[in-house]
Amino acid sequence: MPETPITPNSSAGAGLISTTVREIRYLVREIHPLRKYYAAKQAITHSYYRVRYRGSDVFCSCCGSKSQSFVTADRLCRYCRSYARNRFLWTYLADKLKLGDNILHIAPESCLRACLRGMPGIGYIAADLFSGLADVNLDLTDENEVRNRLGESVYSIILCSHVLEHIDDDPAAMRAIRNLLRKDGRALIQVPLDWSREVTYEDFGITAPEARARAFGQWDHVRIYGRDFMDRLQAAGLEVELVYPRDVCTDEAIARMQLDPQDPIFLCRDSASF
Ligand SMILES: [Zn+2]
Repeated sequence: MPETPITPNSSAGAGLISTTVREIRYLVREIHPLRKYYAAKQAITHSYYRVRYRGSDVFCSCCGSKSQSFVTADRLCRYCRSYARNRFLWTYLADKLKLGDNILHIAPESCLRACLRGMPGIGYIAADLFSGLADVNLDLTDENEVRNRLGESVYSIILCSHVLEHIDDDPAAMRAIRNLLRKDGRALIQVPLDWSREVTYEDFGITAPEARARAFGQWDHVRIYGRDFMDRLQAAGLEVELVYPRDVCTDEAIARMQLDPQDPIFLCRDSASF
């Protein structure tokens, strides 16, 4: 669940509860009959924020808000809850979108979903194993299920941010992404990556949430990717290009959005498509 920040020191139980509570909150806001009440409550809260945190030191590309600061060490936008990686992805993607694009958003973040859903001339579908924010619930590693529910070679853009580190069979998920891409399509993939590691660390004998939190830094992660992440993508038939914030943004924009200069987008296409 990429929306859920769990620190390595969090207990697994607390992390699970936090994930569930957050998911329920989103669902309530989205589909509950009282959603107008929640929208009004949020509008009042945001009005307070605009006074309390008035300023233009930081900027969120996802919702366009300016503020004195983001929230705490996670650098969350207090208006749309974007992380730095979401702001970078949207900054890159917003310039690339064109009429006729068909977007698949895997494990949809609400801040990006709000940017993309309903955009004129652009198709959008969100998929996730469980999330109520998704249009389709499916297992990305189940080849038949993916083909039956999402098709083949149909998406010009696939967004997959901080998902693969949660999936045991990540080669299957990478192959599914390749199969879903249109001939001219691109997948924008982000993962937490330890650049000091040459080789990805994974141990499928570690299954307890507490042990995973100790070993992999988060209770629901199953590995820590190393510099061989690109090799893993290539082994799944994806051609990879790295896009860093400095390739897209000025230094000032990087500073104001508080992007991590070393956190790239892995821009992938089907290696058989050219
Ligand atoms: Zn925002």
